[in-house]
Amino acid sequence: MGNVNKSLKDIGSFMKLPGANLFISSTKDLFNWAQKSSLWPLSFGLACCAIEMMATFSSRYDLDRLGMITRASPRQADLMIVAGTVTVKMAERIKTLYDQMAGPKWVIAAGSCAISGDHYRHIYSVVPGVDWVIPVDVYVPGCPPTPEAFIDGILELQKIIGKGKTSPTYNTSSIPEEKTLSPLEVAKPVKKSKNLIESKFIDKNEILNFSKELKNNGFTYLKFITATDFDSNIVLTYLLGNNTRNKDVEFNIQLGEDLTIDSLSDIYSGADWQEREVFDLFGIRFIGHPNLKRIMMPDEWIGHPLRKDYVMDAHFYPYRPTRKEYEKWKTEL
Ligand code: SF4
Repeated sequence: MGNVNKSLKDIGSFMKLPGANLFISSTKDLFNWAQKSSLWPLSFGLACCAIEMMATFSSRYDLDRLGMITRASPRQADLMIVAGTVTVKMAERIKTLYDQMAGPKWVIAAGSCAISGDHYRHIYSVVPGVDWVIPVDVYVPGCPPTPEAFIDGILELQKIIGKGKTSPTYNTSSIPEEKTLSPLEVAKPVKKSKNLIESKFIDKNEILNFSKELKNNGFTYLKFITATDFDSNIVLTYLLGNNTRNKDVEFNIQLGEDLTIDSLSDIYSGADWQEREVFDLFGIRFIGHPNLKRIMMPDEWIGHPLRKDYVMDAHFYPYRPTRKEYEKWKTEL
């Protein structure tokens, strides 16, 4: 009770009267005090920062003393703590959850990823800060922020709410110029594994016979299929393993302008999803694949993000719009 009285003194004054005390405040201040003292955060997390957030909500830090109880439904929550990397796929869900929260409501962006995209800022699938999607009241830096930093952010938010103002902000910084280096420019000499017995280029018309022959020779494990876009020349790389002899063989295929090639899915069942990934990210079509559709990006995604001709910042409206588009989107909210 002592703490409550101390806290109440911040929003009003006590008059000592014979037989009782009288507390005087405005309803506005009283409501602000009630709101800041009973924040109910939505329970969800996006990446590693969420683990630190869970630690913050553990008994050791006792956030109940701040009136905080996590809620599993946005209908009952008035605080969203965005903890983790915001991907383009999740951004839409975050916006939906935010819209489902009743007002007044507040947002804390916790951790470098939620604030700016951090190390992943220039990756095609990451939103460069959650404030491209929803308004943010408090930013808590760190990778990840410690529980103490989380609590500091919550106390800062309480100050904002106690003063009766929310200060939703949207990102107003200029969009950084995306620069993509050619893999030839950044390539470092690769140390070949001593188990790798062969690495060569083959003609793409040979792929089925070549793979069948390797499989008959014990290379039964398709380790990976990947691709590299050397501007106008996409090179496919396959790695096959012989687990009995502990040997690998790697082969490459230059595709040129025709971005089609026979699928290995009839020979190696693991080729199924690996070819889908290469199709998704590079747009290479695997003839004979039983179900060639996107595996990482949403079905409606435009373009293939690991291609050199893929235009960054062009396809993710409203998460990476041009400044003009962004200003328009903001006024439509
Ligand atoms: S800021 Fe660091 S800890 Fe937090 S989600 Fe990003 S990488 Fe993980």
